[in-house]
Amino acid sequence: MPLLAPLLLAAGFLAAEVAPAEARDPSPEDVRFARVVEETLEAHWKLDPEWAFAAGYYRHADTLAVPDGASRAAQVAFIDRTLAALAGFDASGLGKSNRVDMALLRSWLEASRWYVETFRAWEWQPSAHNVADGFARQIDTPYAPLEKRLRDMLVRLARVPAYYAAARASLGTPTLEHTRLAILQNRGALEVFGEPLLAKVDGSALDAAEKALFRERVASARKAIEEYLTFLGDLEGRLARGGARSFRIGKELHAAKFTYDIQSSYTADELHRMALAEKASLHDRMELLARVLWPRYMGKRPIPEDRLELIGAVIDELGKHHVAPDQFLPEIRRQIPALEAFVRIHDLLDQDPTRPLEVRETPVYLRGVAGAGINSPGPYDPGARTYYDVTPIEGGSPQSAESFLREYNDWTLQILNIHEAVPGHYLQQIHANRSPSRVRTLFGSGAMVEGWAVYGERMMLDAGYGDNAPEMWLLWMKWNLRAVVNAILDREVQAGDMDEARALDLLRRQAFQTEAEAAEKWRRATLTQVQLMSYFDGYAEILALRAEEKARLGKDFRLKDFHNRLLSYGNAPVRVVRQLMRE
Ligand code: ZN
Ligand code: ZN
Repeated sequence: MPLLAPLLLAAGFLAAEVAPAEARDPSPEDVRFARVVEETLEAHWKLDPEWAFAAGYYRHADTLAVPDGASRAAQVAFIDRTLAALAGFDASGLGKSNRVDMALLRSWLEASRWYVETFRAWEWQPSAHNVADGFARQIDTPYAPLEKRLRDMLVRLARVPAYYAAARASLGTPTLEHTRLAILQNRGALEVFGEPLLAKVDGSALDAAEKALFRERVASARKAIEEYLTFLGDLEGRLARGGARSFRIGKELHAAKFTYDIQSSYTADELHRMALAEKASLHDRMELLARVLWPRYMGKRPIPEDRLELIGAVIDELGKHHVAPDQFLPEIRRQIPALEAFVRIHDLLDQDPTRPLEVRETPVYLRGVAGAGINSPGPYDPGARTYYDVTPIEGGSPQSAESFLREYNDWTLQILNIHEAVPGHYLQQIHANRSPSRVRTLFGSGAMVEGWAVYGERMMLDAGYGDNAPEMWLLWMKWNLRAVVNAILDREVQAGDMDEARALDLLRRQAFQTEAEAAEKWRRATLTQVQLMSYFDGYAEILALRAEEKARLGKDFRLKDFHNRLLSYGNAPVRVVRQLMRE
């Protein structure tokens, strides 16, 4: 069970071609700090071998942490010990990069303690307990020869019964939603321990005794999962009759979780109010554009009274303009150099031609739903490159392919590429890696990372990308509205009383989403908290910081300098970046 969800966005650490951002020699305090960081990470990986593995650190690949009281006590002891060690540093003796890392480490530790002691997901989210991901990743990751991997797995398998016994003992009164999710996901866990794994074992060079032991332990692991599923089935029946914990965490926990997860310049309440105002303003501007586009796309058809209907009709029509299924990946590949050229010509941000982005078909083991996204190696996987993974569309049904292509129509596909690649996630990582810091990669701000990508879309269009076509702006607004209503939805569902009907109205009628997208989003809003606010938060924070810097620097303000500096602090939260920029 990870302390916090891993943030594995930044690429590897062999950015040798690029000069480090900090030229000064490390002070003795810097050297001492670097040692404490190494010790801290090593202790952390021991406590959380699953996260370690996901980060590309394989020393504990034969360990399975059991979610019991003893392991939680060990986590708290580790947090106390590390916070005490950090308190012994004089921040003024540290270089800028280490001061950022110090702030991030502290926030992460304080957040981790709050998660263990106050939030206590282990008590009310049965879905927090599942061994499937870790084992599936181990089966799919060629980190060592097959036999070594199987022997590591053999040791971990022995702990699976103890893992699920501890899981059952940890649970108090869960929510019905997380109980149902746990049933679904643990059923999936049984598939991980199925015939394909055993066939791998049979085909390996393990000796006969090892192979027999492997089969025996897989059988015990399956039995432990089946028992957990029986336990969850009973629990679900009981909770459905009454007494389940609400999936809404309430105002107080939501405000605290927002503080720990987002480290925002705003409170959750302020951000919620900003999102409501932004939604109204987007609707105003979308109406104007829809009226401009109506004759071009809808001809003489009568214009609807209701302005949301009007906007929705034009968006639906624009969706019909899209590439053929087999052109989806080639089109993405064609657009990347064009985006890079635009950023260069308009002097928006430094780029690094020595670290090109590779657009590829998503490897089968990484495929989930149809889609496209940046895939980066963990911070311990040096020199690995960044991929833009695109899942082929031809695999699904013709209806789902058509619906997907309408969503990623001729205009939105460009916005997607801006978000994922240039100047979005891919370029942000290139900058983050100029001052390589594991701390920042691992414990950085998700709001900064997503915020930059969302900000990048708007910034590119402001700079003239897409020639100010009303189609491009309208579809950008639809896309941007998604981030805005995510924030509204999370706040009103988790800290308020928004029900499914109101949520679907917000998503479908007011944000023009498809039935499938809205249904999936409602489900996510009941199962997660705060994360849906991060996109709009980061976007709003970067826009606010830019306005402040413009006012502060006056005629000396240069957009490119602002972007280069903003990204030079890695994944540090915007709030921390603001302080450092002013020093
Ligand atoms: Zn079509
Ligand atoms: Zn993103």
